[in-house]
Amino acid sequence: MIQLYQPLNFLGMIYREIKQSLIDIEAMFTILARDPEIRDAPDAPALAISGGAVRFEDVHFSYDPDREILKGISFEVPAGRTVAIVGPSGAGKSTISRLLFRFYDVSSGRISIDGQDIRDVTQESLRAAIGMVPQDTVLFNDTLAYNIRYGRHGASDAEVIEAAHLAQIDGFIQHTPKGFDTEVGERGLKLSGGEKQRVAIARTILKAPPILLLDEATSALDSHTEREIQDALDRVSRGRTTLVIAHRLSTVIGADEIIVLAAGRIAERGTHGELMKKRGLYHSMWERQREAERARETLRASGDEG
Ligand code: ADP
Ligand code: MG
Repeated sequence: MIQLYQPLNFLGMIYREIKQSLIDIEAMFTILARDPEIRDAPDAPALAISGGAVRFEDVHFSYDPDREILKGISFEVPAGRTVAIVGPSGAGKSTISRLLFRFYDVSSGRISIDGQDIRDVTQESLRAAIGMVPQDTVLFNDTLAYNIRYGRHGASDAEVIEAAHLAQIDGFIQHTPKGFDTEVGERGLKLSGGEKQRVAIARTILKAPPILLLDEATSALDSHTEREIQDALDRVSRGRTTLVIAHRLSTVIGADEIIVLAAGRIAERGTHGELMKKRGLYHSMWERQREAERARETLRASGDEG
């Protein structure tokens, strides 16, 4: 009986959680994999946001006790600034964003927002303060308008249109059969990765959270789409505290600080200029990415001729 009861209890908890908090659909899927031990402290207050400064202090974390994933991570994203995290796959980048969202608690150390330990405030208020633009956006089998308005259910038509414009998805929408009323998803229009990402950006523009968490797509987008997405992201992150997990190094040039993560440790940190001068890990990542881009261009050029 106990074996049956526990998963049911767990599902019930997830269900309540989903119902109670205004979380994104992406977060909903991640929540299914999270630690069931995460609970609000009794009488936990709501997070009080002043500027939205994020701070990691000597954070250690393991999913499994015998394998430490983050090994003493300290950094700060001052209110309104942008910090980028780069590094090889498996380094622990996405784990950092999961910890900030409090899908798991740190093993030791502390994460705070505007001086408040995120374990001391309600999860609902924490997640309401953070807008996530994930790698892979899940769309509802509903209209484009519905999918954008999901960022803030009370938004007017004019606000939805404006958000679509800022996210640079309005041009695409105008060319769909029914515009904003076009059905998308499994039974409707299929969107490309870049289009879905711009829908997620439009949602986030409507949500207007003080803190942004961006996990960039790894897929090689064509350079035109990449530029459009970058412009849209720049607009939404202006004036907001932004933590971006970057795969395309071209997107981190303007960050106030770049953190190079390798095997759960900060290997290098600094601005783009400082890190390039250093000719270390970051510099070699750039060289490699440039070579890959050159190879792609060559391939494309020969394809055009033939
Ligand atoms: P990155 O985003 O830098 O590619 P992640 O933060 O996703 O890396 O993962 C860091 C490490 O943690 C990887 O070795 C990964 O296999 C491991 N990991 C990620 N999620 C889990 C999980 N839920 N349980 C156990 N190990 C995990
Ligand atoms: Mg990742």
